[in-house]
Amino acid sequence: MDSKELYRVLLGLSEPWTVERVQLDLARQEVSVFVAHPPKTRFRCPRCERELAAFDHVTERRWRHLDSCQFMTYLHAQPPRVQCPEHGRLQVALPWAEASSRFTHMFEALAIDVLLAANVKRAAQLLRITWDEAWGVMTRAVLRGQLGKEFALPEHIGVDEKAIAKGHRYTTIVCDLDQGTVQYVGEERREESLATYFAAFTPQDCARVAAVSMDMWPPYINAVRAAVPGADEKIVFDRFHIMQHVLAALDQVRRAENKALRAEGDGRLVNTKYLWLRSQENLTGAAATRFSAVKHAALKTARAWALKESLRTLWDYATEGWAQRFWRRWYFWATHSRLTPMIGAAHMIKRHLHNVLTYFSHRITNAVAEGLNSKIATIQKRACGFRNYSHFKTAVYFHCGGLNLYPSALTPGKV
Ligand SMILES: [Zn+2]
Repeated sequence: MDSKELYRVLLGLSEPWTVERVQLDLARQEVSVFVAHPPKTRFRCPRCERELAAFDHVTERRWRHLDSCQFMTYLHAQPPRVQCPEHGRLQVALPWAEASSRFTHMFEALAIDVLLAANVKRAAQLLRITWDEAWGVMTRAVLRGQLGKEFALPEHIGVDEKAIAKGHRYTTIVCDLDQGTVQYVGEERREESLATYFAAFTPQDCARVAAVSMDMWPPYINAVRAAVPGADEKIVFDRFHIMQHVLAALDQVRRAENKALRAEGDGRLVNTKYLWLRSQENLTGAAATRFSAVKHAALKTARAWALKESLRTLWDYATEGWAQRFWRRWYFWATHSRLTPMIGAAHMIKRHLHNVLTYFSHRITNAVAEGLNSKIATIQKRACGFRNYSHFKTAVYFHCGGLNLYPSALTPGKV
């Protein structure tokens, strides 16, 4: 097998394309593979598939391909053009690359795999391409994936907000709770941030949404009510968010009490914040020992903590009826606790109770969304911040969108 035949096989080239010559540049550590077709080959119009004679060729272009050992390998060719009576003069589709790409399908697929595993900077280094080229691969992959994706609203939706910068820049993340994928990234956390997502679908599509899990956040509530018929029976205020409000109240009680105790020289609550906020079963070793000493003390914080731990069981009930009975007892206990922040939290949950208890009809939580949130946090950390909002969006869709990112022409054995 000579080098031309070797590269024809390695590149998976098929009729009419063959390798004309292979050139090795030792100094630059590059292999150039020149690809051509026999004269009088007919090609198809890229728009209507009509078979036509090649009209002319555009100037030679090159595409980066998978390395040959340590040598960067480029495929060179002059793309033919056809003169279609209907569509005019057009460049024909090339089997090894997408029209806009400077990489072959196989290189692009490798780049996607590397980008999924490493940050953009590191991926660019490993692939020996520039940051912008790596970013281009990612952007194209997301566009390709979104074009190929079924356009439908998920049955179970999770809505969450995410701070994207140290300041107070927020995004609204909509996810498919069944697939565990991000469906949409909206700017800010206003009503329009979410309304824009629903606006892309028909009222019939929106009617098929079975449930939406989210925080008690009025702009989101309004957006869902406006778009989804029967929203009041479909909105589920998520247990994680509800517990976050209760945890915030508990921490307020602790801070106030700690301040009062320290004024009297009592340091029992110093550095105990996370002992109280963590779930009891997650405290182990020294922390558990330390915590059992304060937990039984006659402290306001200990009472607030007991309320918090008790409320966690609300979601364990088998039926809404039993949960309601539990809630009434808990609400009485909380509102008679003489702990102002806990009373505030109890009132807030009561105002939203109907859509807390819808949990028992749908049994959905934002656990999936929280999982995606921490994945997004990792993406952010790896990227050390994004140059802009649209970069952030692309990276989230790339890593969490559940999209088919690879070139569609890529089947084994083909370039
Ligand atoms: Zn045509």
